[in-house]
Amino acid sequence: MSADPRPGSVNPATGEALDDVPWNEPSEVAAVIERARSAQRGWAATPLAERSRRVLDLGRRIAEQRHEVLALLDIEMGRASADSLISEVATIVDYTKGAVAVASQALSPERVSLSALTFPGKKAVVEQVPRGVIGIIEPWNYPLLQFHKSIFPALLAGNGVVLKPSEHTPRTALWLAKLCEDLFPAGLVGIVVGGGAVGAALVEGDIDGLVFTGSVATGKKVAARAAERLIPFSVELGGKDAAIVLADCDLDRTVQGLVWASMHNAGQDCSAVERIYVEDAVADAFIDKFTASVERLRTTPSEEVDVGPLQNINQLRIVEAHVADAVEKGATLRCGGKATGTGYGYLPTVLDHCDMGMDVVTEETFGPVVAIVRVANTDEAVSRANASRFGLGGSVWTRDLRRGEQIARRLEVGLAHVNTHKFAGVIPSIPWTGTKETGTGIAASRHAYHTFARPRTVIVDKNSAPEAFWLPVSSELLDMGHTLAEFQLGSFTRVFRLLGLLRKRVAKVSGK
Ligand code: NAD
Repeated sequence: MSADPRPGSVNPATGEALDDVPWNEPSEVAAVIERARSAQRGWAATPLAERSRRVLDLGRRIAEQRHEVLALLDIEMGRASADSLISEVATIVDYTKGAVAVASQALSPERVSLSALTFPGKKAVVEQVPRGVIGIIEPWNYPLLQFHKSIFPALLAGNGVVLKPSEHTPRTALWLAKLCEDLFPAGLVGIVVGGGAVGAALVEGDIDGLVFTGSVATGKKVAARAAERLIPFSVELGGKDAAIVLADCDLDRTVQGLVWASMHNAGQDCSAVERIYVEDAVADAFIDKFTASVERLRTTPSEEVDVGPLQNINQLRIVEAHVADAVEKGATLRCGGKATGTGYGYLPTVLDHCDMGMDVVTEETFGPVVAIVRVANTDEAVSRANASRFGLGGSVWTRDLRRGEQIARRLEVGLAHVNTHKFAGVIPSIPWTGTKETGTGIAASRHAYHTFARPRTVIVDKNSAPEAFWLPVSSELLDMGHTLAEFQLGSFTRVFRLLGLLRKRVAKVSGK
């Protein structure tokens, strides 16, 4: 049996060999971090307006030079160019504009209002200070888009970054890093290429924050290490999104929407719909139409491809194993169920009569496979959808929007939808986040800034007299404390007594 090809060395659509991309040695990672750190000092001192201008320039360059990156996405992902364009490139200019708007909100200094009675003469302001150098480790399923969520806020906050793309898709990230060389100070955006050993060297390196997107198993390891090192981290891990199809849904639109949400990018999406819970009353009609639509999807080597291949051989094997397990345990194979025979292609697959005993219902498949579970009613659908160790996204499909919203709020997820699913990954102001084993990470939006900036509070006291609460302790201090508590409880007439005691205490502390 021939050995598996080196990751990233094969076009997954055709099986043809790609030019080799050299990997870094783990020992080379430290120098890349060091260069980013040297450049970061000047970058942090650059005004936010200028940092924003450069990030907007980067967005424009990506859009202008899109044909170059699309060619790389073609060979690394094997999906249709139109699909890569829409998913990862077409909205980049607006994305950077949105990221800049989020940054100006998240990084604005915040004046704290202090009571003139209890904290007289003081002002306090909370500022956001860049962490330093951020390591960004990403998976292969959206080789460009995955970086957008972190590289822009990290740079806007005044950090240097070191990118670590997946070993399966290094070319796209190398292209991005090259674009950055022209726009940012030398070394500010570093890149290291290689497998887990290079990623681990980055986690161990002299970084000040870590963003990791990938599998649960690796995410737990890097989170444990980052916690030990006391560096802030964001881990965004697997998903197993559920869609709930209610009897009153618009059947045609629901079918079309769920075909897209489950099959787009060949299901290699942390927020792909992998499970559908459909109410019995509409189950037969829905499943017939859904299967017919999935069967019409075109795969490589058609002229137009709706569903590209799996990106790598490991992923193809996981998909094959999940489908075999489901069929063996009694699921009905409605369509697909086998490799296309071209590259790492797998036929879009629908499995009916699935249940919790099957991997295809409980484990992340990350492929063009949908498990359908028939349910008696909405409550059963919600409880089965929530019986998952993942919690990224979920959706409810119904004509009753009010009820749909109520049901969506019962889903244990970070992104709850009604009559749509998963597209919010291209919106920079929406937190991309989940719960349970999807991890605690947050990508995009102001909520993501904890990893990129730390709060620093500057407090200035313009009083010349000492404070009433300083030493020494005296009976007036006790009296003042009780009077203050009563005043805060609503005895406002105590204000005069309080002012008197404050004066006495200041005199006492001053030694008068
Ligand atoms: P993976 O965990 O195998 O690899 C992710 C990255 O981590 C790669 O760059 C890899 O080289 C690196 N890595 C591997 N071992 C490492 C180690 N010990 N230390 C540091 N880095 C290491 O995941 P994958 O197969 O590339 O990606 C698929 C997974 O990503 C799926 O589970 C998917 O759900 C998840 N994902 C999640 C989101 C999200 O937003 N929640 C988005 C996209 C993908």
